[in-house]
Amino acid sequence: MTEHAQANLKNLYRIFTVPEAPDSTLGSVDQALTKDLAGFLQEHIVAQGTSLEEIEKDFSTSAIPEDPTFVSEYTEFLKEKLVAQSVHTASPGFVGHMTSAMPYFMLPLARILMALNQNTVKVETSKAFTPLERQVLAMLNRLVYNRDDAFYAKWMHNSRSALGAFCSGGTIANITALWVARNRLCGPDGDFRGIAQEGLFKALKHLQCEGLVLLASRRAHYSLGKAVDLLGIGRENLIPVETDDNNRLDMRHLRNHCHRVQEEGKRVLALVGIAGTTETGTIDPLEEMADLATELGCHFHVDAAWGGPTLFSDSHRWRLRGIERADSVTIDGHKQLYVPMGAGMVVFKDPQAVSAIAHHAAYILRPGSKDLGIHTLEGSRPGKAMLVHAGLSIIGRKGYELLIDQGIERAQHFADLIEADPDFELVTRPELNILTYRYHPAWLQKITAQAPAEQQKTINSLLDQLTVNVQKAQREAGKTFVSRTRLEPSRYNGESITVFRSVLANPLTTDTILEGVLAEQKELVRCYPELLAKLRAAATIS
Ligand SMILES: *Cc1c(COP(=O)(O)O)cnc(C)c1O
Repeated sequence: MTEHAQANLKNLYRIFTVPEAPDSTLGSVDQALTKDLAGFLQEHIVAQGTSLEEIEKDFSTSAIPEDPTFVSEYTEFLKEKLVAQSVHTASPGFVGHMTSAMPYFMLPLARILMALNQNTVKVETSKAFTPLERQVLAMLNRLVYNRDDAFYAKWMHNSRSALGAFCSGGTIANITALWVARNRLCGPDGDFRGIAQEGLFKALKHLQCEGLVLLASRRAHYSLGKAVDLLGIGRENLIPVETDDNNRLDMRHLRNHCHRVQEEGKRVLALVGIAGTTETGTIDPLEEMADLATELGCHFHVDAAWGGPTLFSDSHRWRLRGIERADSVTIDGHKQLYVPMGAGMVVFKDPQAVSAIAHHAAYILRPGSKDLGIHTLEGSRPGKAMLVHAGLSIIGRKGYELLIDQGIERAQHFADLIEADPDFELVTRPELNILTYRYHPAWLQKITAQAPAEQQKTINSLLDQLTVNVQKAQREAGKTFVSRTRLEPSRYNGESITVFRSVLANPLTTDTILEGVLAEQKELVRCYPELLAKLRAAATIS
């Protein structure tokens, strides 16, 4: 062991008290971050275009470092190997995913959070963070259900209730909601002590049914698949419901599926409506779904992980009409509330619904206590609600309204740009701030539209290859970014095609940047002359 390492080991306890030197590299990184977050990211995320395989080489040893090292040395490694090769999600040209820029104040506040290191599983390790989290959940509950002051005064800090549950993201929020739905449908009844106690097999026997079923549009998020797996319902019993031309769940098909399921002797556990689908930002017919859920007497969940904050907007709130009739609603904090990764919420209409999943333990989570861990899936949990509280307080309802309104406007404008360019095809018009499109050169568009099915298929499959290539090349170049997905637009007889997907949530994205995205894509297309030649050949077959 080097002398330097020995000295370091001896002083190891100091990492819990004072940093090794005030002018260490960490210090400078830290200062740079606090002073100019955007500038820091711009300056330090530099290694674009390196392949993942190449990066894996920097993270390939499985040996745990034997000797301690100095923080400053380690920070050098981080800067070079991790920061430099991460993704600039905050870049205004990064319009492909749901992760965007963060308000500057989140960073220093996140440090306070880390410094306090509270554990919100129980009051004993979180104190004020418990009422704060309950308040945040009440605020979100009010955003959705808008009940009066007396209601919130009664339930907000009531130990026998929870207006929602805070968790690490939309996935856990959806699972929590469906867990509540399952345990309520299969709750204690006479001799049956409930599914939580006796398990699914006994529950089905008690209900005298062949299985439980969840119905959601085929555009639903994959977290629902995880949920039905985990809850013992089975992936086969998550029924993907057909969508209409606008990617909204089709009510006629939903009704048919429900009848069929009942004829098979199964029970509908829940209908799930989506407020802002991940791929196209579409909102399902929530009001009609609520009617059907009432008719069936089943749980109605709305997955508003993405679209929930649209409720802040006076001009767009109507789009989510019916959401207030949902039994539970998922809203992600780390999406359109602009909170750092790891913040999701589910709110419940019935403040006592969570008692269906209440869990008690001897040393904490005692009955009657206000421990949040009684009804959360996760155990130890950070006080992330503080950052949602910060956003709601600092940005305010009107601030979020502005962000939402501008995002929707920007998406409309981007759609107009795409439509105005004869070499692009807008595939889905944005209902909120997500749209899809593809490169489809003007000379080809007419031919594709009139081509017989076989020829159309050939052309589309070549266009798919072009879209994939351009999307990858654009990502590697690292200037701008859109994602890609596959959709089945009715104009191609439901045949699935690959499309670019753009999410317009970064308030710093300008029209010029969006024009640049399209210009870059047109440039990149020219790198694939052999595909273009094949397209020409496919177009001339008569
Ligand atoms: C993002 C998203 C989820 C999942 O949320 P995570 O935070 O990624 O776990 C669920 N549903 C919808 C509609 C989403 O957009």
